[in-house]
Amino acid sequence: MGCPNMLYEVMDAIHLMYEDHPEVENDCMRWLVVALANDYDSMKVAEWFDEKHLCMECGNHLSTCNTKDYHPECGPGVYEVYTSYYCPECDGFNKEDE
Ligand SMILES: [Zn+2]
Repeated sequence: MGCPNMLYEVMDAIHLMYEDHPEVENDCMRWLVVALANDYDSMKVAEWFDEKHLCMECGNHLSTCNTKDYHPECGPGVYEVYTSYYCPECDGFNKEDE
């Protein structure tokens, strides 16, 4: 293909155009993920959602939930805390993992 990859320019342009309308920007990015034929490019747009903690399915803000992972082998009361993001709309069912 002789066509340069303009993904970053396109994402920048969307951002500049719709900075004041985050919901339109959000919709544009969600459309991009679906429209991009190239897996690597869709991953780049997926990262945009990751950085903003937005749901790629519905565009909602993701909620966080902290999960404690106990390590009894390291002593009593030793645990690691994982923060995971979930969409209250799409993965609401994950809440029971808390
Ligand atoms: Zn969602």
